[in-house]
Amino acid sequence: MENYDVAVIGGGPAGLMGAERAAARGRRVVLLEKNRRPGIKILLSGGTRCNLTHATDARGIAEAFGPAGRFLRSALAALGPQEMIDLFTAEGAPTKIEPGGKVFPASDRASDVLAALVRRAKRSGVELALAEPLLDLAREDGRYRLTTPRRTISAEKVLLATGGKSYPACGTIGDGYRFAAALGHTIVPPRPALTPITSHAEWVTALQGVSVTDAVIEVIETNGPDRTALTPSPSPGTGEGRKRLKSRGALLFTHFGVSGPAVLDVSREVSGHEQPSDLLLRCDLLPELTEEEILDSWADASATTGRRQVAGLVDSRLPRRLAEAIVAQSGLPGDLTAAEFSKRDRRQMARRIKRFDVPVAGTMGFRKAEVTAGGVTLEEVDGRTMQSRVAPNLYLAGELLDLDGPIGGYNFQAAFSTGRLAGESV
Ligand SMILES: Cc1cc2nc3c(=O)[nH]c(=O)nc-3n(C[C@H](O)[C@H](O)[C@H](O)COP(=O)(O)OP(=O)(O)OC[C@H]3O[C@@H](n4cnc5c(N)ncnc54)[C@H](O)[C@@H]3O)c2cc1C
Repeated sequence: MENYDVAVIGGGPAGLMGAERAAARGRRVVLLEKNRRPGIKILLSGGTRCNLTHATDARGIAEAFGPAGRFLRSALAALGPQEMIDLFTAEGAPTKIEPGGKVFPASDRASDVLAALVRRAKRSGVELALAEPLLDLAREDGRYRLTTPRRTISAEKVLLATGGKSYPACGTIGDGYRFAAALGHTIVPPRPALTPITSHAEWVTALQGVSVTDAVIEVIETNGPDRTALTPSPSPGTGEGRKRLKSRGALLFTHFGVSGPAVLDVSREVSGHEQPSDLLLRCDLLPELTEEEILDSWADASATTGRRQVAGLVDSRLPRRLAEAIVAQSGLPGDLTAAEFSKRDRRQMARRIKRFDVPVAGTMGFRKAEVTAGGVTLEEVDGRTMQSRVAPNLYLAGELLDLDGPIGGYNFQAAFSTGRLAGESV
């Protein structure tokens, strides 16, 4: 039996940050990581560039999490976005801000972020136990007994930072839920978030490869298979008062449906819905323009090129294949010229561009989800310390908790901040 003050489970951003802090405070710390290397998701993230936080203040980060953001207050006070940037800069991994506010390492290398974290952890004296999964966690004689394939460990305190269930190929298969539940915690059912959305409509998959750089997307509830009586979908899960999601950004058509940042950001509404096939994605394909402005632009164009086909008018601002699909859906003949394009049809077409409805089948699930929604319920964790209110000397941090934010670096910031606060407290 080996003795430690603190055993940290999981070598992701939350675990690495927490272990470092605890060791820097003089605690004897072992970090158990099931993979041969820590921080696999850091390496994968942001297209291997790692969007590590967002250029905003602590309040901006908290607000992005909706009501759950209140829980993050103390964690963000312990480590806010600017402190994180300063920390990485001091560690030789300076950052840059990209348009839209995403923060990346200046080198564009996620590996620099991970190297900085591992260097800090080692320097503080963390014992990194790689390829050593935690198999069993039990409370015994006022301490924790941890079983791994190699040994039994006794620790006064345990920090669970095992992440969620998304991207299971990374080793995140939900072990932490099992450990937390066995110690008395309630688990809000995990569901995929930030995951692509599927559609069975042939016209959608036929648009594979088409992308729109700027669209506004919202999830709309229909009253069943005929998809009539549209109403905005209520937000599932994360508690009352969470603003219904409207997301803006790139939209990409794929062989299974739709993806791109704007789609990922609304996907938790689809995965949390009991009948996803009752949903539509309502896309505003030209959010910069009002319906009237679109109509005006067509009036100008048809005055000069009246013989142009209607799809040619529509595609002046949208990809040609998408324009053709919009015209086809409107039921107008494909060879209709701009001169023959009636006032009524124009208005209907402009409306269709502002309210382009993509039927939903479901999502690509955990396999392709960047984040897991749901997890250990926040009511059972003290947000001032990250200590369990249920099990003594147990701490929890990161994606394991019922916390999930939008695209843009928010999820890493939450993992780093909660990990840091846990490390201050253990
Ligand atoms: C493809 C992809 C891209 C992403 N891009 C971004 C991005 O650019 N910006 C952003 O903010 N977020 C991004 N995310 C989300 C972000 O990666 C996560 O929110 C974050 O990694 C959560 O950190 P964590 O420390 O809580 O958990 P994780 O990073 O999941 O770490 C948990 C660790 O625990 C280990 N573990 C699990 N079970 C055990 C066990 N039984 N014993 C020992 N170890 C165990 C796992 O192997 C893993 O290393 C992305 C996610 C994915 C999948």
